[in-house]
Amino acid sequence: MDIYDLTIVGGGPAGMYAAFYSGMRAMKTKLIEAKQELGGFMRMYPEKTIWDVGAVGPARCEELIAVLEKQARTFHPTIVLEQEVHHLHRREDGVMVLTSGCGQQHLTRTVLLCAGRGIIDRQKLELEGANQYEVSNLYYTITDVGSFRGQHVLVSGGGNSAVDWANELHDHGAKVTVVHRREQFDALEYNIARMHEHAQILTPYTLHRLHGQQESIESVSLMNTVDGTIHRMAVDSVVVNHGYKRDYGPLLEWGLIQENNGIRVNERMHTDVPGVFGAGDFVDYGSKVRLIAGAFNDAVLGVNSALHYLDPVASKQPSVSSHNVRFRELNRKLRERSRD
Ligand SMILES: Cc1cc2nc3c(=O)[nH]c(=O)nc-3n(C[C@H](O)[C@H](O)[C@H](O)COP(=O)(O)OP(=O)(O)OC[C@H]3O[C@@H](n4cnc5c(N)ncnc54)[C@H](O)[C@@H]3O)c2cc1C
Repeated sequence: MDIYDLTIVGGGPAGMYAAFYSGMRAMKTKLIEAKQELGGFMRMYPEKTIWDVGAVGPARCEELIAVLEKQARTFHPTIVLEQEVHHLHRREDGVMVLTSGCGQQHLTRTVLLCAGRGIIDRQKLELEGANQYEVSNLYYTITDVGSFRGQHVLVSGGGNSAVDWANELHDHGAKVTVVHRREQFDALEYNIARMHEHAQILTPYTLHRLHGQQESIESVSLMNTVDGTIHRMAVDSVVVNHGYKRDYGPLLEWGLIQENNGIRVNERMHTDVPGVFGAGDFVDYGSKVRLIAGAFNDAVLGVNSALHYLDPVASKQPSVSSHNVRFRELNRKLRERSRD
């Protein structure tokens, strides 16, 4: 079985950028992602427009994922999808053995944990029969906001995403009703005020039942959480935004130290486990920035530290990409293509 210099766990922005950067540092790299596709948390808001990534944008999130993935593949790392890394065992020769949930083993000399807040899934409705409507008009995210034009859409939830969707749906010609189990919304004031201008707001209410024939919801029952009264309302679609379930699984049994909002690392992204480094939303340190830009910076530091762990005389900084010999051939091909 091949032994890798670096195995990256997690294929969000931190993991994808680390895969590119470790290639730039000529490390034999593997990336393991639990989901079917790369992208990480960004897959939860593919339609959103991102403005705050340096030199890029405004770009739709899914476009940014595509560019990041292309960059991640520059030096052809091994990418393993649909495997959740569970256990770490260190052999006598120092090589680490990672075992995934399906039992497959991966050999590596260093590990970079880019596992974000763990494996994330949307909090789904726990109502009878809800699953069957996911193929028709029950949505946990929106990929084509224009398709709701002219519809009466019920949005359930009270956080930033629910409020954002309520406003965007209105902007794209939908009539919007928002239900939330509490009186207060937990979102930006400006966006809440805008939502109040156009949407019918029902608080404190929860979705109590979905009514439909065959595969579509035709109406919903809403329950007032104070007096228990039930109201029925005809709708064309239901958009649910009740937050996320997060699960670190057995990663926390590796001897990592949990601190505030993540796993403790020092300023060079060393965790408390030798040879194991961290980057992105997974980690916590004094000046941590929980943004895509922050994930990129952590990835650079984490990869450089992993290389230094393997080779203490390696430079802590690589030569910049404009001078790095690994790009010589790629640059030649780019020049040829632009001449054609
Ligand atoms: C609604 C919303 C909007 C946002 N908008 C912006 C924005 O406009 N600009 C911005 O800069 N940031 C934004 N962010 C923050 C940004 O999404 C995160 O900072 C970023 O995704 C963190 O990247 P990451 O790679 O560290 O983690 P993640 O993106 O969470 O990726 C972690 C990956 O690790 C995988 N994983 C976890 N455990 C394992 C395991 N054991 N084995 C294998 N794989 C595993 C997960 O499946 C996941 O794919 C937003 C966040 C939210 C919630």
